[in-house]
Amino acid sequence: QLLFSGFSKTRENLAVVDELLTYWNLDESESILDELEEVLLVSDFGPKTALKIVDTIRKDILAGRLKSGPQIKEALKKNIFKLLTERVTTTELQLGNSRPAVLMIVGVNGGGKTTTLGKLANRFKKEGVKVLMAAGDTFRAAAGEQLEVWAQRTGSEIVMAEGPKPRPAAVLSQAVRRAVEEDFDVVLCDTSGRLHTNYNLMEELRGCKRAVSKALSSAPNEVLLVLDGTTGLNMLAQAREFNQVIGVTGFILTKLDGTARGGCVVSVVDELSIPVKFVGVGEGIDDLQPFDAQSFVDALFP
Ligand code: GDP
Repeated sequence: QLLFSGFSKTRENLAVVDELLTYWNLDESESILDELEEVLLVSDFGPKTALKIVDTIRKDILAGRLKSGPQIKEALKKNIFKLLTERVTTTELQLGNSRPAVLMIVGVNGGGKTTTLGKLANRFKKEGVKVLMAAGDTFRAAAGEQLEVWAQRTGSEIVMAEGPKPRPAAVLSQAVRRAVEEDFDVVLCDTSGRLHTNYNLMEELRGCKRAVSKALSSAPNEVLLVLDGTTGLNMLAQAREFNQVIGVTGFILTKLDGTARGGCVVSVVDELSIPVKFVGVGEGIDDLQPFDAQSFVDALFP
């Protein structure tokens, strides 16, 4: 349970569900379902997803499949689990068969991209995988140095930006070419993350993906969008936009140890059908865990 220890706010909100369902009876079903929807909204589930969940439960009640409060609560958990798993492919990283595999890490500044990249390098290193980092965040002044520290800590090699006005695409392209020549297994590409509303950033990201694809002679194996778990439904807007621009293959949710907003995770996966692959649960090097939908749901409704 330590895994999602930071969900206290969401858990507090959802605790009301127990109270609500204690008094559930068929006559008052409608008003209780309305309240249930309200609780889901307050818990950041987002209007579409909240409605979808409550509608499914309503149908099951009307069909006589759900007859008591506890049954309804179980159904609620099952529905949420289903939304997290039903339409997404595996939560495992897809590295393909040829080497190097290239992972682009994208997301807005401050979300935890660079830290996550370091944590990923640490996981790979433990598996004996040879990692090359690419310091593609040439916009944020300290990003390169921050990444260099992670490279040293994890015993990874790194390609840094050079010259007065480095182009991120050139850094990534250089890294991929070096990885091909020197038989690296994995290239972890950091990218810059000015606000997602910034048109130039999105153009830049497209350029980065093109550069990687050209150097690798195929698309990057993963484009992982780092989402700050504390940002609530803002997360949904970011996920839509990044996915539209470069095609996201997986999410990494960070800061789930803090005041994370659990509900929106369900909305993001439900709306975009893209899996969460990892969760960040602290600032330390080992604080990255594979996402497990069942423990997530269990943490929401203990
Ligand atoms: P970037 O701008 O996206 O590269 O973000 P950084 O990697 O620099 O992270 C921004 C801040 O968030 C740093 O202080 C990190 O230590 C912190 N951070 C990143 N991931 C987590 C996490 O899972 N939990 C917590 N509590 N803090 C995190």
